[in-house]
Amino acid sequence: MTLATAAPIEAVERYRESVEDRAFPTVREWRARTGRMVTGCFPVYAPVELAYAAGMLPVGLFGAGNQIEMAHADSRFQSFICSIVKSTLELAFVDRLAPFDALMFESICDPARNLASVMARNFPDRHVTYVHLPQNMTSPATVDYLAGEYRRAADELGTVSGHVVGTEDLRSAIGAFNGLRARLREIYQLRASSPEKISTAELYTLARLATLTDPADSEPLIAESIATARARESRPKDRVRVVLVGSFCEQPPLELITAIEESGCYILDDDFLLGWRLFKRDIAVDGDPFRALALAYLDGSVHLSTKHDLRQPRAAALIASARAHRADAVIFLGAKFCEPGLFDYALYRKALEQEAIPHLFLEFEEKMWMYDKIRTEVETFVESMLFT
Ligand code: SF4
Repeated sequence: MTLATAAPIEAVERYRESVEDRAFPTVREWRARTGRMVTGCFPVYAPVELAYAAGMLPVGLFGAGNQIEMAHADSRFQSFICSIVKSTLELAFVDRLAPFDALMFESICDPARNLASVMARNFPDRHVTYVHLPQNMTSPATVDYLAGEYRRAADELGTVSGHVVGTEDLRSAIGAFNGLRARLREIYQLRASSPEKISTAELYTLARLATLTDPADSEPLIAESIATARARESRPKDRVRVVLVGSFCEQPPLELITAIEESGCYILDDDFLLGWRLFKRDIAVDGDPFRALALAYLDGSVHLSTKHDLRQPRAAALIASARAHRADAVIFLGAKFCEPGLFDYALYRKALEQEAIPHLFLEFEEKMWMYDKIRTEVETFVESMLFT
């Protein structure tokens, strides 16, 4: 599929096929069209601009969903590991990562760290770049440290692609992703203010497509989709308004998102694909772009379960989001065995109870086929909200 021939939001069903296809058709098409290389970026947050500045397409690598059977990866990891780590490795074993010349991982949690090592050891011909994100957000040395780490990663990717990353390359890449992120902020704002005009399943599909395509292609597509959605004449339904958290890394099946909506919820805010829209505002494109990227991570990003920033208590941020969106409730939708998510849930739960905001805890795995149980849980929760 080429984006140029696709209509915007009405084509969401067609985009969905591309998003779920682990043969990565959009990536293969981009490679064939440009003759350039591709970097797979494991969530949560990867500095995608570094790959783009090296002439490569940064592509979101969100595991295999429910698209392949696990035959090799299970023997490389313990049992109690989230699905995305195993299925991402499995993709490599069944040669689905053939369009990827390099992979980028970050220090978000122990399973992701191990995945980077296991991947590098099993597939030595595919370059692995590991980015050590800082743990101390307040030290005066942190900006310089992170800028240096980004320079090192850019050098590695430049060596793979054969294009040394220069200052103007990186500024231009930041500008391209600023444009995409601004458009993502805009479509999120539209859903928050008028959830009857765009469903979360539609929004999610478009945002996910943006992780699989060149921002030069996806940014105008999302802009056009926003215009189309705004023009819809949809009437608000009697639904419970919720903020959803917990799905910042491994992604729930699209059917599950649809089931939650169809059970009577308007999702007004969520943390799906959070790393691709991490920043509250545009990143500066003047001055040293490596420092600008580092500063944006430290001071310009939204709260994130894998970024331990004592200046931004995550439970307080969730309460603030629920209040700002006039949410009736919060749904925690967490990946099974995701420790950062589950640790946060303990904090969220306490804060939500203190603020008397009702919440529902749900867990998912990539390989889910039946949604009846979750649908019933959400419907019961919604009824309890609407009729009490
Ligand atoms: S889902 Fe959670 S545990 Fe698994 S890699 Fe992502 S952050 Fe780590």
